[in-house]
Amino acid sequence: MFAGSPLNRLSWLRNSHSFLNSIIASPKSRWLLFKSGNPLTTKTEGKSILAYLSTKDVSPFIGQAPHFGQGRESGLLTSEEQISATEAVRHRGSPIVFLGLHENTSSGSGALPSSEFVDADKAVAKLEGVPYFAMDISDLELEEPAIQATLNETEVVKAGTSLTWLDARSVMTNANLFDGAIFAEARSMVDWNTRNRFCPGCGAKQHSLWGGWKLGCSTLMPWVDNAGRKPCPSGKGLHNFTHPRSDPVVIMLAVDETGEKILLGQNNRFKGQFYSALAGFIEPGETFEDAVKREMWEEAGVKAWDVQYHSGQPWPFPASLMCGFYARADSTQPVRTDLDNELSDARWFTRQEVMSVLTHATGSYLDLAKLAEASSQLNKDANEPPFRVPPTTAIAGVLIKDWAEGKVQFPTFSVNSPKGNL
Ligand SMILES: [Zn+2]
Repeated sequence: MFAGSPLNRLSWLRNSHSFLNSIIASPKSRWLLFKSGNPLTTKTEGKSILAYLSTKDVSPFIGQAPHFGQGRESGLLTSEEQISATEAVRHRGSPIVFLGLHENTSSGSGALPSSEFVDADKAVAKLEGVPYFAMDISDLELEEPAIQATLNETEVVKAGTSLTWLDARSVMTNANLFDGAIFAEARSMVDWNTRNRFCPGCGAKQHSLWGGWKLGCSTLMPWVDNAGRKPCPSGKGLHNFTHPRSDPVVIMLAVDETGEKILLGQNNRFKGQFYSALAGFIEPGETFEDAVKREMWEEAGVKAWDVQYHSGQPWPFPASLMCGFYARADSTQPVRTDLDNELSDARWFTRQEVMSVLTHATGSYLDLAKLAEASSQLNKDANEPPFRVPPTTAIAGVLIKDWAEGKVQFPTFSVNSPKGNL
């Protein structure tokens, strides 16, 4: 879930306001709307799924054209096209994120290389596929009746289906892989745009550039008088705060030397018998391997070695990149959770114990509300599993399942890297 983006992001065209203005006007374009990070959804066969609206549907939210490359005066294009401070600038209205194009073929044959890009309207007219956009409407400060009035005019509602804002984490309950990947990109991007309103370099207001993929400091606009003000550092060089970030998290399973036991932890925040992989943010000055070893030690008092990568998962709450690992550890050594007290319990489970949960009809839950409710019934009902693990929509569930099914093999060589003190 959330991985495997189906979109050609056309990142090399993000700085072209003529391209973005042309593609946003396409009747094929589809929009994912958010309100305070929660997506707009519709219902089909009783299940909530993402609602995709047309540009016409969302026009009251996106305001007056031009939407990108806005000039000093409202309704006019910028005449300062060639400077980086105004590339596809949107300093009026809420940020709009161009997510990419879902092409009809996977060959990328309609890829629109920047070298051949001359006339935006002609190029966009030739494009095959569906362009996707996203926006969070909370900044518009519209009253609920005004929002509802706009939604009532959408094709979806007119066709008789209702639209509702759904808790973001509930999306993964019903989303397919296509929707999951678009949602992950969209949610992380609208969140980044919403949260970074002021320039970390000088404190002035920021605005959107590059179809929502860059933030610019207002002091760099060509018509701003900066007399008496120190130049903003973001005006020179490349700055990581002007581009979207991903926060890397290591998530890992320790496997003992027999290969028959794994270490799982129970987080303080989760009620009931719910066990999962250990995890934590990578800290500055650490490699993946260092972070895996440190987290294992801090959370469970376990020393780990032979760290190896398995796979990754974007986790858009708000912008994490989960990096999944296996590592070796000694299951005969004591486990302790009193160092950082993040876990209420950590223990080694045998393959048989884990398999009995994986094959149980209700062995995997991620809905925390349901989990708490279901866990209160644990040990009271003979049909309940002895404990629960995450489903495979989360990478922890994938790591657990792949190990349980015997798909994990450690290499016979060790990577020669600095060892640190763990
Ligand atoms: Zn600044």
